[in-house]
Amino acid sequence: MNRGTIAEIDLEAIAHNFRTAKKITRNKTVIAVVKADAYGHGACEVAARILKERVLCFAVAYTSEAVALREAGIKTPIIVLFDKYNIGDYFKYNLIPVIHDIKTARKFSKEAAKRKKPISVHLKIDTGMGRIGFTVPDMLKDIFAISGMDYMVVRGLMSHFSEADLSDRSYALIQLRIFNNVRKLLLDRGIRPSICHIANSAAIMTLPESYLDAVRPGLMLYGCSPLQKSAISYQPSAKDSRLKTPDSKLFPAMTVKAKILSLRRLKKGTSVSYGRTFITVRDSIVAVLSVGYADGYSRAFSNNADVLIRGKRAPVAGRVCMDTTMVDVTEIEGVSEGDDAVILGRQKSEYITATELSERTGTISYEILTSLGGKAKRIYTTH
Ligand SMILES: *Cc1c(COP(=O)(O)O)cnc(C)c1O
Repeated sequence: MNRGTIAEIDLEAIAHNFRTAKKITRNKTVIAVVKADAYGHGACEVAARILKERVLCFAVAYTSEAVALREAGIKTPIIVLFDKYNIGDYFKYNLIPVIHDIKTARKFSKEAAKRKKPISVHLKIDTGMGRIGFTVPDMLKDIFAISGMDYMVVRGLMSHFSEADLSDRSYALIQLRIFNNVRKLLLDRGIRPSICHIANSAAIMTLPESYLDAVRPGLMLYGCSPLQKSAISYQPSAKDSRLKTPDSKLFPAMTVKAKILSLRRLKKGTSVSYGRTFITVRDSIVAVLSVGYADGYSRAFSNNADVLIRGKRAPVAGRVCMDTTMVDVTEIEGVSEGDDAVILGRQKSEYITATELSERTGTISYEILTSLGGKAKRIYTTH
């Protein structure tokens, strides 16, 4: 269903960011995280493009996401990070489960035995994220038991950082130390998973000692740095029309546009939108845009964000509605109905980043990308 927004996805930017992850990690194996429809960029299209860069493996959250990739003809190994149901799909579509409890391991072993088809798994240990994974006191006992199960091949060992995006790396280093200790204890028992991985985008940028056998970038592939705020401030580059981080490492890949549906001249003192939270302080021109919170443009942007029209910033005026948003365009010369309004991305020399939008509403760029990209009609550009 097409609503009022279009997301232009720059697949070459994603390919560039993938190569950047390779460069930063000195050519480590990359498990490209394409969950949540590639953070709103479209998993099948993104995966197909990254494949040309010779990616080893993709990661998704749920089996349905992996099945969609298989149905799009993608044959690369796929790790499913969270789904412990739909066990049949793992065999049917040749997917790699992440196992984080012994009960599920038993189910997989049983199903594999029934089919006489060994299953390769990655085991997830909780080193301090407090979400999912084996923990003490049963961790080692469980892992020993699993590696002895019929038709079970423990191919990988993984964990996840809760806090690698800070300048203070101490908690991440504790998690890494725990992970390495577990690896050693397993090795003592002859269990040697061939691929150990823990590094997300933040760790790729801050923690080289965490690269191990493979890295698992998500956000950075889409051109955002998880090191928000002052750590990275985006600068446009004179040479390239795309956005770049100052160190030229990442290109944001998503531009989201709406259109001006109506232009209205309002007298000084006129209220705009629900709740009358915006009242014109002068005779004004207000544009009604084809984007609302149903398009993933958060209601928290009410009186609290800008859009770009004719290369200039126009502030949101009043509350964001379900399907529409009003912006003050009094100062924008030549503004016309039908003009593009860039919600996210660059227009001429101005730019609005996911980080900027996230900071305005106290969220993270991940949520901005998945919200806006997930709802827009996506079109793909390759240079
Ligand atoms: C989402 C996710 C990643 C990717 O994280 P980014 O911060 O986007 O790089 C890696 N590993 C796991 C387990 C995840 O859930």
